[in-house]
Amino acid sequence: MQQVAINGYGTIGKRVADAVRQQPDMEVLGVAKTRPNFEAETAIDKGFPLYAAVEEREELFAEAGLEIAGPVEDLVAEADVVVDATPSGIGAQNKALYEEYDTPALYQGGEDADLVDVSFNARSNFEDAVDADHVRVVSCNTTGLSRVIAPLREEYGVEKVRATLVRRGGDPGQSDRGPINDILPNPVTIPSHHGPDVETIFPDLDIDTLGMKVPATLMHMHSLNVTLEEDVDAAEVRDLFADESRLFLIPERMNIDGSGTLKEYALDAGRPRGDLWENCLWAESISTEGRDFYCFQGIHQESDVVPENVDAIRAVTGAADAEESIATTDEALGIGL
Ligand code: NAD
Repeated sequence: MQQVAINGYGTIGKRVADAVRQQPDMEVLGVAKTRPNFEAETAIDKGFPLYAAVEEREELFAEAGLEIAGPVEDLVAEADVVVDATPSGIGAQNKALYEEYDTPALYQGGEDADLVDVSFNARSNFEDAVDADHVRVVSCNTTGLSRVIAPLREEYGVEKVRATLVRRGGDPGQSDRGPINDILPNPVTIPSHHGPDVETIFPDLDIDTLGMKVPATLMHMHSLNVTLEEDVDAAEVRDLFADESRLFLIPERMNIDGSGTLKEYALDAGRPRGDLWENCLWAESISTEGRDFYCFQGIHQESDVVPENVDAIRAVTGAADAEESIATTDEALGIGL
């Protein structure tokens, strides 16, 4: 049993903790938090030992009646691997702590690629992270793009990727984010930073991305055009994608017209927090024109990186190969709509 520590118990950290708990080969040793907020309460309710991420704030937990198991240093020292799910930039500050205790660490997409040995997507480059000490699970958008690009590259070869990312303004709980009544080119410069981030997974890929931000919280939407190295029929691509467990091809008959109905479906299907771990591709949108492939896909920013974190744990601990890990994670979580 791999003993997993989770430092930072917010949007990503709490989901990773639940996912780790569901795996047959790992356990949550504890979670570390800075504040005794509602998430700290639910961590305790779920039986996760709660550690104080910042020593001076430990008494705030006592005042709130929340029992602390110890300082984050104890958690990191005991763990086989730590998942850092703190806000962007804090992971970099925490690196020295993980090094001090010689504990392999996973970071999230908000950290710079040069912080780590390897940027990770399970479907695309699992082997690169085997036995690595510092691994970055790439962002929700980069994860979503990589999952589509990997099979296209393997099957047909990819000449060029062009993607427009229509991004949610903030997560549902982020009342300080926006816009609330605008459509922003964001970043306004072209190409956006997303393309170079995908190149941390596929160093020789030719990719240009454009970003926008809109008043939505539920999901991102990608409009994709990939120029392949051979002529391809749309039906063939649909068949190729049907074999990918983390690509959900939304059938026309379901009458799912956007992120709202997708989330409603996830909730109806009993998904925890209405999470959609898979890329959600509209099957009807999968089109080809000679060597050009097109589609729309919805990306649930809060959850698509969760199974990737679970697989990255197995990679850095050398516990399984890519195929075995992905299959185990998928089965434990119920991935594959
Ligand atoms: P979040 O703000 O929801 O959660 C971060 C948690 O870390 C909070 O509970 C915060 O209190 C805690 N924290 C702050 N400082 C800390 C410290 N020094 N030590 C321990 N904990 C600390 O953030 P999030 O959305 O979960 O993002 C975490 C990382 O995941 C970021 O790198 C982000 O870019 C990345 N990410 C976020 C999303 C998303 O849509 N939310 C998607 C993919 C990747």
